[in-house]
Amino acid sequence: MNYADIKTIDIQDGTGVRVSIYVSGCHFHCKGCHNKEAWDFNYGKKFEDSTIDYIIDLMNHDYIAGLSILGGEPLEPVNQQSLVKLVQKVKEKYPNKTIWCYTGYDFEKDVLGDMFKKYSYTRNFLKNIDIMVDGEFVEEKTMVNLKFRGSTNQKKIDVQASLKCGEVVQLKFGDEYRYEKKPKVMFFKEFDDKDSNEVNEENTNIAVSVDDEVVPIKQSFEIREVEEKIAAEGINKEKSNV
Ligand code: SF4
Repeated sequence: MNYADIKTIDIQDGTGVRVSIYVSGCHFHCKGCHNKEAWDFNYGKKFEDSTIDYIIDLMNHDYIAGLSILGGEPLEPVNQQSLVKLVQKVKEKYPNKTIWCYTGYDFEKDVLGDMFKKYSYTRNFLKNIDIMVDGEFVEEKTMVNLKFRGSTNQKKIDVQASLKCGEVVQLKFGDEYRYEKKPKVMFFKEFDDKDSNEVNEENTNIAVSVDDEVVPIKQSFEIREVEEKIAAEGINKEKSNV
């Protein structure tokens, strides 16, 4: 496997501050893809054991919440086989940090319904993934402020819960923060209780900014979830009128 890039600090592709790797090779060729150069399987540098050591090293900071794997397409068979070793090592060394993976495949049909049944490397890979964002990027369904996804058709999936019950368990807006043992959310107001490090529904002291207004974090999630739904419905309505 080759990889296009490794970002030492990434705050866009998952919760908190993360390390990300962009693998090379993708057959989807979505219209409007931002990483076209990574469609070529030979683009970039060779992924080697030393690359894994480098990533493990980069993650060795309290402020790093986890690893995000993007592309290109991480679930192309050749890429999955190389990535198994990486995700196993990351989970072994940092069991409390999360691993996010972005794929153009449909999780229900292609991943659970096909690859998972056929390939042991897929089973070993998924065992170590916390959250998967699935589906091709659809330019007509983009929204500027969409959290951790490019277009509204893409889903944020709890991989371990899905494997447990054998069907897709989707995250609701804001749920991803509850996966962090020590959440690395950027708050606009410090916790009133300095000893508290929990993000939960009762803790209304935690606040974030929504359109310049400071509101409790739970409320902000609800506002943004509704905004996403309205925008998604608007986009679908426009499409059906064409
Ligand atoms: S799946 Fe991702 S990397 Fe591949 S073409 Fe689509 S947006 Fe680009």
